[in-house]
Amino acid sequence: MDTFLSKRPSDCHILIVDDDEIICEMLRDALKDKYHVTASTTGKDAFCKIDATDFDIVITDLKLPDTSGIEILSYVKCKDEYSEVIMVTGYASLDSATIALNLGVFSYFTKPVVIDELLIQVEKAVALRLFHLKSIMLMNQSEMMPAGAKDHIHDITQLYNFIRKLMLSIEVPEIMRITLEDVNNRLGAECALVGVDLLGFSEIFAMPRTGVLGSDALHAFIGDHFKTCFPNLNKAKFDDVQIPLFVYKGKQGECTLEKTWYPVVIPLTVTDRGIGTLVLFFRNRECFTTDQTQFLFVFSSIVSSVIEHGYSVLQARHQAKTDSLTGVANHRFFHETLEREIARSNRKGCTFVLILIDIDNFKKINDTYGHQVGDAVIVDLTKRIGLIIRAGDILARYGGEEFGLILPETDLYGAEVLASRILNAFTAKPLTYLHHKISYSASIGIAVYDGSRPVKKDILIRTADDALYESKRSGRNRFTVGTITV
Ligand code: GH3
Ligand code: MG
Ligand code: MG
Repeated sequence: MDTFLSKRPSDCHILIVDDDEIICEMLRDALKDKYHVTASTTGKDAFCKIDATDFDIVITDLKLPDTSGIEILSYVKCKDEYSEVIMVTGYASLDSATIALNLGVFSYFTKPVVIDELLIQVEKAVALRLFHLKSIMLMNQSEMMPAGAKDHIHDITQLYNFIRKLMLSIEVPEIMRITLEDVNNRLGAECALVGVDLLGFSEIFAMPRTGVLGSDALHAFIGDHFKTCFPNLNKAKFDDVQIPLFVYKGKQGECTLEKTWYPVVIPLTVTDRGIGTLVLFFRNRECFTTDQTQFLFVFSSIVSSVIEHGYSVLQARHQAKTDSLTGVANHRFFHETLEREIARSNRKGCTFVLILIDIDNFKKINDTYGHQVGDAVIVDLTKRIGLIIRAGDILARYGGEEFGLILPETDLYGAEVLASRILNAFTAKPLTYLHHKISYSASIGIAVYDGSRPVKKDILIRTADDALYESKRSGRNRFTVGTITV
């Protein structure tokens, strides 16, 4: 017992598992002065060593010739759930990261490993390991403790594990899944919901404790009880997008939605700013105790910060790709998409279409009505095109009043049909804005990319641009199909 309390970081045993001997040696060199280090280059050898020694930390490669890092992780956790595992992988895969997180991985690295960062992670993992050993030790001495202390230590350990899991995930759906699952299991709620309204995102996530809830039933339920469920969210915003609802599966079993469930509503706030609401449904009022209120306060403040961080990452990613005036893709994203589409067509030998669109006599619109109206025309144009194109098509603002449209897996016939529809959509009826009625048209250039006859991106763009110029020259409000010449 005393050995646990007096165990120091330098007493810790670390196992490194990697089939690349050079990496094994490099990690061993970095760690050997501080810890007891052993290395394995195969899964088989690693399993034997794990059987024979109580390792405090295991650092494992995700991909091994005879097994996977995930297998190693579950093996280690099966033997001692408080051994910490750090996963290293040659290629980041969200699927394996999610599995590893659920199995309790401590952290996740992609190669090439930066040794200084790994050392910090190992130091943290060792600290956590020693913290757990001390907690177990203290719990085992519960007869010497005041009543309730054991439960309290248990709660703290559980909460710590939850926070750790949460901190490792930055993807919003994963943050929500972990949060809802944990709160349901811990408090025995029948169903948990999180509604958020921040940084331009208005979304609701739901998870029943058991079984599957039909999203239609939940939609209707939330629609009817929106104000009770989310008193501090703006209903209009959710109506606008018909409540984007993400429903996770609960544990196995049956789940039906009961209108009589007792709701407990907890605001989610970050430094006094409301970012959303957590709602728990209990079978009846007695299922929710005052002890749980205290826990929910701690829980909600942790979760709020992590959720806000998750959404700021999402927002940053979104802003990097979109044009701020229209909300469609920006110039950079247009070029990235075009490169991806060219590569895909080359691989598959299929065609795709690039369309360039330029508003006709736009200077005149600006001069007649002012820049603000000009901007409104630009926004209106993207909305009209947005109503016509398919989900996989990418519309981008290429320049001031110039737009690019990428149509994956489309041929010339499809492009011509779409171009006519777009031209009609502009001229069908004028835009009404600030009491003005503004009629506008645009000219279009089309270029078809054929993956069986690859050309460079610049040539494709030049072809569409030349065709667009031809549309202007021959009278505007029309489309022209360009021919690729190398
Ligand atoms: P054409 O039919 O030949 O295309 O004639 P045009 O007047 O549209 O000619 P051009 O494409 O050369 O002019 C584009 C004008 O669009 C020039 C610029 O002042 C204006 N413009 C560019 N970006 C914006 C913007 O973001 N908002 C507004 N309101 N005007 C813009
Ligand atoms: Mg122009
Ligand atoms: Mg123009």
